[in-house]
Amino acid sequence: MRYAIVNGTKTEATKGLKGICPSCRSELIAKCGERKINHWAHIGVRSCDPWWEPETEWHRTWKSNYPVEWQEVFLTDEETDEKHIADIRTSHNLVVEFQHSYLDKAERTSRERFYKNMVWIVDGTRLKRDYPRFLKGRENFRNTNMRGIFKVDLIEEVFPENWLTSSVPVIFDFKVLGTIDNINDFRNLLYCLIPVRIGRYAILAEIPRKAFINASIDGSWSLRVQEFIENLTQPKPERQNQIPEPQVQVRKNEPSHYFDPRKNKFIKKRRL
Ligand SMILES: [Zn+2]
Repeated sequence: MRYAIVNGTKTEATKGLKGICPSCRSELIAKCGERKINHWAHIGVRSCDPWWEPETEWHRTWKSNYPVEWQEVFLTDEETDEKHIADIRTSHNLVVEFQHSYLDKAERTSRERFYKNMVWIVDGTRLKRDYPRFLKGRENFRNTNMRGIFKVDLIEEVFPENWLTSSVPVIFDFKVLGTIDNINDFRNLLYCLIPVRIGRYAILAEIPRKAFINASIDGSWSLRVQEFIENLTQPKPERQNQIPEPQVQVRKNEPSHYFDPRKNKFIKKRRL
């Protein structure tokens, strides 16, 4: 973990320091070596949270976009008493989970059930083939009438299979830290798989990194995703619903126009 409680304050690990786990209240020791990033460790057990994964610089860089109070938040399911540590939980109750290692579908599903309002940020560079496969798949993205939104056929040829049936947005991050200087490189953007399908097409949104971070901080992210999905999936209003109710009018003169329901508009009467 990045933080332990030391003298009542969330504190990062420094050599020789001892702290308390905010979840299970047991003692934690600071691990500050060459091989792994500085972190806090439980004594004798890997972590009190079985969902915890050892962190990398990638995790830490992402977490640092958010206030300390939102990082490593302990959440309890009041019905089952199950406890887990959310990587980020914002003041708007959005959970952001950063996932580097492989997660099978069953595990992924149980985390989505626990956190509910959440978004995954997936390290898209876990396997060597992941980015080349994405680049190849990208050639077949179809533009839509919305900028940065694509329809994608054969999504299984673009992303790892275990993420395709997620019930929440999954954002793929292909940027290996500190390696991209070209501002036009695709990897500066994030690729969000929207949890909806239109026919055989998956829907993918290309999002500037900063735009996602801002929307997750200011609370607009969840609402925007929800509205976007509703717009995509709601049937367009039937034409006949747009025809105005006939109005009863008493008119001295004959009306100059009549309503043509097939054309859905008023047509000027021709003089005989
Ligand atoms: Zn613990």
